[in-house]
Amino acid sequence: KEVLLEVKDVKKVFPLSTSWFAEKKYVRAVDGVSFTINKGETFGLVGESGCGKSTTGRLVNGLIKVDEGEVNYKGNDLANISEKEWKKYRKPMQMIFQDPYASLSPRMKIKDILMEPLTIHFPKMSSSEKQSIVKELLGKCGISEYHLEKYPHEFSGGQRQRIGIARSLILKPELIIADEPVSALDVSIQSQILNLMKDLQEEYELTYLFISHDLSVVEHISDRVGVMYLGSLVEVASKQAIFKEPKHPYTKALLSSIPQPDPKVKREQIVLQGDIPSASNPPAGCKFHTRCPLAMDICKKEVPQLQQVAEDQQVACHLY
Ligand code: SF4
Ligand code: MG
Repeated sequence: KEVLLEVKDVKKVFPLSTSWFAEKKYVRAVDGVSFTINKGETFGLVGESGCGKSTTGRLVNGLIKVDEGEVNYKGNDLANISEKEWKKYRKPMQMIFQDPYASLSPRMKIKDILMEPLTIHFPKMSSSEKQSIVKELLGKCGISEYHLEKYPHEFSGGQRQRIGIARSLILKPELIIADEPVSALDVSIQSQILNLMKDLQEEYELTYLFISHDLSVVEHISDRVGVMYLGSLVEVASKQAIFKEPKHPYTKALLSSIPQPDPKVKREQIVLQGDIPSASNPPAGCKFHTRCPLAMDICKKEVPQLQQVAEDQQVACHLY
């Protein structure tokens, strides 16, 4: 397996805007996160809202700057390069967002929205060549060329996401960071979009960092999964391990909240207690200890580190 992306102990702190009179507060949005993504696979990053998964995606593609740690893309550390050096990596790394409507300019025709990146990156390319690329990719994404002259508002949410996906492909990327790409869609449309992403992945040898709060979506598309809680990864494993033999109490709790389709698989049920603690003031030791039914004394004092418990399974929990 060839490693495409290696995220190593990445940290990001945001100042919290509070009253001028109040003491300044900070949020450790991403608190030492490490994972790798192999070429051609889908790595699902899952967790409740505010756990730092979107921030992690943005740190990877340089939308926000890393405070500490490394983001190695094909062996090159992107965490500390200049804006100018970043230019090289803009093409191979693309994003898909939850709401393509927000990122599709309302006054531009679909054709022009898709041609724009080509115009920027290939100024000498002829208009007819650009059009034929746009037609090809829209077609692959299930949008007929008959729609080229239309505007974004003339499409349904699912069609707009197809257009957003087509646009993400236009510069022949290798890594696509998809942040909640189906969360705004009806369940029936969700699986169409996920299947489209799988087909495109095979055809164009794409690698996905797939961010979602929804475990069933992550199960549908991922090869490996990272579970995040309050800025830290608590479990990283193959999809099979996460869904059949979850180890971390938080992973088990997340799984307990989704229906189990196979009655033969008996999963331990863990019900989450309490609310997510404030990210600006996370609990000491294991950040999950305030909600963990299995918490021990040590959990309040010592931060558990991610450690290997099986061939493709890492867990950060004092139980192991
Ligand atoms: Fe629960 Fe302790 Fe494991 Fe944290 S380290 S998940 S509190 S058992
Ligand atoms: Mg988010």
